[in-house]
Amino acid sequence: MSITGDHRLLKRLNRMAVVRRVRQAPGSSRADLANATGLTKSTISLLTQELIDEGWLVELEIESPGLQARSTGRPPTPLTLDEHRLAFIGVDIGLGSATVVATNLVGKVLTEHTARLDTTAPEQVCREVATLIEARLASEALRQRTTVGIGIGVPGAVDERTGVLRFAPNIGWKDVALRDLLRAALAAGPAAGLPLYLQNDADVAALGEFEFGDPQVLEPLVFLGLGTGVGAGIVVNDRLLTGWGGFAGEVGHTVLDAAGPLCSCGRRGCAEAFIGLAAVTQAVLGTDQLPRTRDPSALLQSLPPAAFDADRAHRDPALRAALDRAGQHLGLLMQNLWAAFDPAVIVLGGPTCELGDSLLGPARERLERYAQEAGLQPPTVRQARFGRLAHAVGAAAAVIHYQVRPLSDAAMRGSAVAEPA
Ligand SMILES: [Zn+2]
Repeated sequence: MSITGDHRLLKRLNRMAVVRRVRQAPGSSRADLANATGLTKSTISLLTQELIDEGWLVELEIESPGLQARSTGRPPTPLTLDEHRLAFIGVDIGLGSATVVATNLVGKVLTEHTARLDTTAPEQVCREVATLIEARLASEALRQRTTVGIGIGVPGAVDERTGVLRFAPNIGWKDVALRDLLRAALAAGPAAGLPLYLQNDADVAALGEFEFGDPQVLEPLVFLGLGTGVGAGIVVNDRLLTGWGGFAGEVGHTVLDAAGPLCSCGRRGCAEAFIGLAAVTQAVLGTDQLPRTRDPSALLQSLPPAAFDADRAHRDPALRAALDRAGQHLGLLMQNLWAAFDPAVIVLGGPTCELGDSLLGPARERLERYAQEAGLQPPTVRQARFGRLAHAVGAAAAVIHYQVRPLSDAAMRGSAVAEPA
């Protein structure tokens, strides 16, 4: 990481400390912000005015200002995040399709579009994604807004310093300089020059829950993505845990039973071999072969309707046994995540969650049983806020996450910190 222009960096750090504080404590006055950040009142005045001018913050109307003004002089003006002027683009590059959303500063989806991708060749995918991004930028929903940056979630391990996608087995990509390819694809259009953030899709989904959840968000937060693949995004100490090579959170390939079924990675008994959607589908259908398709929608469509209804599944012994076994293994994986990270909350997301309590019920029960035996309170387990848009909305959240943390931003983009234009 190279950082130039210390005074500019300092200013960015201070500005974004103000934004983070207002998010935590909406309605803060300038005096509150000075107290909370340790900055002088004159610095706070300067920074808040800039942030208001740029669309990050807005002053709230005060009720009955006349009365307060008469009794106590000029009343403090509460500040909050401005929901109306900035936009953040999030892209989910999946298996055979891409979803592009734009959100506001608090995670409201302003526009969304999903399109099939005709190819898996990286350059061509980047060109198609660039076209989708440019179409969203031109949409009515964004016409009056300033777009701050673009986040991209991909189903693989990412080296965030170089923007290289290390390995995405489901798409068949290895060591692809995806951030550079996307920059090149966007270079001639309206998105040229916007900050671009590339990250693993479970990681950005975790950021979506972290940035767009309750302002007093609890952490560590683990987002467990359940689909054809199984992966986790982990937020600890206010940042993503990505690991040495970007492989942190690849919990689908933690071994739950060394004598278990064969996994796509070649080992036996990985979590994915029990709770990956293909494995669950195989178990429910009672066949010897894994389904040919790895497309989550097709896999879900091949399941009997009773699988999606816990009461009906309960009355069918074979169906119940298959879902219960998968659920028990999901509970085992959550127990392992609990032991490894002691999370305050585990968020379950991804298409497999559409099975609902048929699968998640036994998983929760197993985790609670472990907790009871240990005499401990288990982490809160809840489902993702943004459903099928979890990756795309999370990618938009990644833009906010890095923008308001200038040091991470520099590391993430492999660039010097520059004053925003
Ligand atoms: Zn495996």
